[in-house]
Amino acid sequence: MSVDALISTYFANGRLSDLPRDHFIDGRFVPAETGNRMESFDPGRATVFGDFAAGTAVDVDRAVSSAVAGFAIWRDTAPATRCAVLMEAARLMRAEADWLAVVESLDSGKTLAEAYGDVQGSARLFEYYAGAADKLDGRSVNLGNDNAAFTLREPVGVTAHIVPWNYPSSTLVRGIAPALAAGCSAVVKPAETTPYTALMIAELLIRAGLPAGVVNVVTGTGPEAGAPLVRDPRVRHVTFTGSVQTGVGVMQAVAPNVTGLTLELGGKSPLVAFADADAEKVAEGALWAIFSNAGQICSAGSRLVIHRDLHAQVLERLVQKATALRFGHGLHNPDMGALNSERHQAAISGHVERARIRGVEILCGGQATTDPATGKGWFFEPTILDALSADDPAIQQEIFGPVLGVQVFDDEDEALALANGTEFALAAGIYTKDISTALRMARRIDAGQVTVNDYWAGGIELPFGGNRKSGFGREKGLEGVDAYTRAKAITLAV
Ligand code: NAD
Repeated sequence: MSVDALISTYFANGRLSDLPRDHFIDGRFVPAETGNRMESFDPGRATVFGDFAAGTAVDVDRAVSSAVAGFAIWRDTAPATRCAVLMEAARLMRAEADWLAVVESLDSGKTLAEAYGDVQGSARLFEYYAGAADKLDGRSVNLGNDNAAFTLREPVGVTAHIVPWNYPSSTLVRGIAPALAAGCSAVVKPAETTPYTALMIAELLIRAGLPAGVVNVVTGTGPEAGAPLVRDPRVRHVTFTGSVQTGVGVMQAVAPNVTGLTLELGGKSPLVAFADADAEKVAEGALWAIFSNAGQICSAGSRLVIHRDLHAQVLERLVQKATALRFGHGLHNPDMGALNSERHQAAISGHVERARIRGVEILCGGQATTDPATGKGWFFEPTILDALSADDPAIQQEIFGPVLGVQVFDDEDEALALANGTEFALAAGIYTKDISTALRMARRIDAGQVTVNDYWAGGIELPFGGNRKSGFGREKGLEGVDAYTRAKAITLAV
């Protein structure tokens, strides 16, 4: 079916046929042991459009057992074969991009264009790590003539992947693709509001040639399905992407088993604009740094740290651009889609209301709203809060929505202090025409990734991750394989 036909069928019926319904364990769909089910909402209309299995510890136990058996096969599969399977997964993802993108848009609320970006990015991740699968070599070590010594890079074993709802496909694939390249098996727990594409990708991997049991998916809530997964002692590495609060809980849960952990947590990333920067470039950069995916991005540029001399001209342009953004149902492909849930909409409203009560100047937006075309759905107006102090809660707390906080500076030291002035350290953008300023700031800013003159520059080839409360460990790039391999040293007396 064409994309247009899929979309018109959905709007006519309020449902999509052929959605996966159950967990994916040992190469096939299986219902929850309890038979319990959960509903999934279309955030653009605030209506239920599907249901799925509500997993519990029993389902998780089956999935981990399946992954243990899958690991025994996959770790001994030739690296060149792993490479071929991942390449085929990429090809299938591209061939089925329409279906995957429609489901992703509907489940998350994001625009169709953003959903296509997520799917194509996932296909690229499979390709990239396919290229790594047959290059995970150890090294030969010179101990002199009495010994021969070398290292092996071994897969760590069964890995668990806890995924949030903002980029359901690519966050999943940036974890499982390097894990599979390394020879690990996986159990995935997608977010409870976006369960479908994880199930679809797991099934697609089987068609690409992955042996049954190597990738398993259990759907359900964090406490019911996520918690038993991360504390299972058979899991040897957990890759968790989500909030700081849950991440800290996961860290405590894995401690007794001494399980490896990657934490990709929140952010409050600055876009720092110096006086010599081009005002139009800064305004356009800041617009998409915060309003892409309705601000629901861990690395969103949620703070504009701007020189006093540039403030008025940039803010005038930015407010005009922000108020001109069209928002609406994701499948109609507006500039900005819906928020993922009613609960999340309420949380964002709370942040903005408290700012209003504190007397913060709101330059535009500031209200929860609906799709202007239908009066339905969970939306929030593009919002800009001006001239905030360094300790304002709207600067210190992650809002994770379309809300930009502006901070004004007078010199470079102040810019740096403001940029580094939260407990997060995930990403940062610098706008200046002066290469020395750019390099000085890039070195001194505490962040996992820094871009210059294009906030979203970069790609899956570069490592991604945070410092301080933004987490630890790196995904993407060749560094992304490190968590899934361990070195073994072998020495022979000659
Ligand atoms: P969340 O922490 O509520 O949930 C994330 C995932 O954890 C979900 O799948 C959830 O079901 C699961 N979970 C909840 N409780 C659990 C438990 N006790 N044990 C195991 N799993 C559990 O986060 P969220 O609200 O869904 O996502 C938004 C947050 O994620 C934001 O803070 C955002 O910055 C962060 N995030 C970070 C990155 C990154 O790469 N750094 C990327 C995307 C999102």
